[in-house]
Amino acid sequence: MTTAINACTRVLTLLGDPVSHSLSPIIQNAACVAAGVDGVYVALHCDQERLPMLMESIAQAGGGGNVTLPHKERAAAVVKHPSEAVRRTGACNTFWSEEGQIHGDNTDVEGFRRALERFLGRSPRDHRVLILGAGGAARAVLLSLLDEGVKDITLYNRTVERARAVSRRIGGERVRVVGPVEELDGGGFDLVVNSTRLGLDPADPVPLDLNRLERVGGVMDLAYGDAPTVFVQEARAFGVPATDGGEMLVQQGAASFERWWGEEAPVDSMRAALEARREGKGAP
Ligand code: NAP
Repeated sequence: MTTAINACTRVLTLLGDPVSHSLSPIIQNAACVAAGVDGVYVALHCDQERLPMLMESIAQAGGGGNVTLPHKERAAAVVKHPSEAVRRTGACNTFWSEEGQIHGDNTDVEGFRRALERFLGRSPRDHRVLILGAGGAARAVLLSLLDEGVKDITLYNRTVERARAVSRRIGGERVRVVGPVEELDGGGFDLVVNSTRLGLDPADPVPLDLNRLERVGGVMDLAYGDAPTVFVQEARAFGVPATDGGEMLVQQGAASFERWWGEEAPVDSMRAALEARREGKGAP
C-alpha cells in the first residue's frame, strides 16, 4: 500500500477540456496503490491559453501528467524534450520534468498498438484500415499502424484539410485521404478505427453509418465510457467484432506510468480498477 497523501506526495494531473468523463484518475490512482508509489492523480479542466503555464508549473513542482483532447498538439509545442513519437506525430499526451526541463512522450502510439494486438490477437500488418478523425489521437493511430507495416490505410475526417495535413506529416503516399463521406460508399475494410471525439457523450451520433460499407471486419472505438459506446453497440448489432477505448486507456496509461515512475506499471491492477468501475463496484 502507498502512504496516505502527505507533504511529499507527487501530483500528477490530467489536463484537458472536457476532463470530467475521464477514467484515467481511476486507473492511475489504482496503479499508485498497487505499485506502492507516493503519488496522486487528479483531473484539471484547462483551456488552451492556460495549458503551457499549467504544464510548466506542474513539471517545475516535480509533478507531471497527461494531456487530453483537444490540447495534445499544443502540448507538443510546450515540451522542451519531445520523444520521437511526439516529434513524428506532433502530439503529446504525457509530460514530466527531468533536471528542470519538461520532457514529453506520446504514449497513445504504444497504447493503441498494445490494445489493437490484444483485440485482433495478431498483427494488423495485412489489414485494410479506415481511420475516422484527424486530431491528436488519429495521429497516434496512424503512426502506430505505419510502424506495424500496415500498407492500406484510408483516412476520413469531417474537415478534409486537417486529414490531408496529418497524412502529409505522418503517412505521405501510404495514406489515402477521402473527401466527402460518399467516397466511402461500398468500401470494404478489415478494421475501422474511430478516433473522432464522437462517442464521448452517449447522445452523440455514430461517427460513420456502417451501412455505407460493403464489408467491415472489426471496429475499434477509441472513445470509452462506463458502458459500450453507441458505435461499438451498432457494430456488434451487425455481427462485427468491436471494442471500445478501455484497453487502450489502460495501455497508454501504463506506458505513462512507466515514464513518470521509471518502473513497470501494474497493468493488471489498472485493468481491474477499470473493470470494477464499469461493473459499478468502485475501485478495488
Ligand atoms: P481532438 O484532437 O480534439 O480531435 C477531435 C476529432 O474529432 C477531429 O478529427 C474532429 O474533426 C472530430 N470531430 C469532433 N466533433 C465532430 C463531429 N461533430 N463530427 C465529426 N467529427 C468530429 O481529440 P483527440 O485527442 O484526437 O481525441 C479523440 C477521441 O479519442 C476522444 O474521444 C478521446 O477521448 C479518444 N481517445 C481515447 C484514448 C484512449 O486511451 N482510449 C486515447 C486518446 C484519445 P474536425 O477536424 O473536423 O474538427
